[in-house]
Amino acid sequence: MNGKILKSRKIHYSKVKITDIIVMKYLAFLFFFFLPQTDQYKAVKEQMVKNQIAARGIANQTILEAMRKVPRHLLVPEDQREYAYEDLPLPIGEGQTISQPYVVAYMTDLITPKKYMKVLEIGTGSGYQAAILAEIVEEVYTIEIVESLGKRAKKDLDNLGYTNINFRIGDGYLGWKEQGPFDAIIVTAAAEKVPQPLIDQLKEGGKMVIPVGPQGKLQDLLLLEKSNGQIKITNLGPVRFVPFTRK
Ligand code: SAH
Repeated sequence: MNGKILKSRKIHYSKVKITDIIVMKYLAFLFFFFLPQTDQYKAVKEQMVKNQIAARGIANQTILEAMRKVPRHLLVPEDQREYAYEDLPLPIGEGQTISQPYVVAYMTDLITPKKYMKVLEIGTGSGYQAAILAEIVEEVYTIEIVESLGKRAKKDLDNLGYTNINFRIGDGYLGWKEQGPFDAIIVTAAAEKVPQPLIDQLKEGGKMVIPVGPQGKLQDLLLLEKSNGQIKITNLGPVRFVPFTRK
């Protein structure tokens, strides 16, 4: 009987050892693979925030903090990763682009983001602008017309742990009526004119930022503010965005 017990203990002991080895290997893998990867971009990301964003006058600390946090390199195609924090828009497939970091910061600053806000974004693209917003405001709603891009952004942002971003595949011209009105709306594709449904879905006191103008040329970045049912428009100057398309 004693012999039997010893035998079963022995088996139990060797099982634990194997598990230990597996756990150790896994930890070593995490340490050597993931840690250097996240650190690798920390310095360039910090440089980006300092030289491209803060140096150009974005003083809102919550925006700077969000830009320090969101891993832009994980939202661009793998072959673009090394350029992720450069002062450039980058291709993200399907003929679309992720906006230059400064443009994202500038448009975010224009809506004066606050924690309590519910913000609508038209043109999910890579999901970068949505992630920046999600770091700052309570609820983000984002619509993308190209299904493959919308699905990829949702997958990437889910993986990064964002739980306050709501995704929709469809024509952003119509906005997201069931969830409106919104405290702010950011449109990241160039429209020929401001879509009326978006104006309707803007809250009293709300702000909308939208590039308006001919496709393929320079457009004007417009800031619309709704007060007492009236729309005040400020033209902030020329920008270049990919076209706003319709289904
Ligand atoms: N905000 C994005 C920028 C993407 S570029 C980012 O941070 O990466 C603009 C996006 O708008 C493109 O992906 C394009 O497919 C999308 N788009 C163009 N017209 C649209 C429409 N009518 N509704 C929704 N998305 C649209």
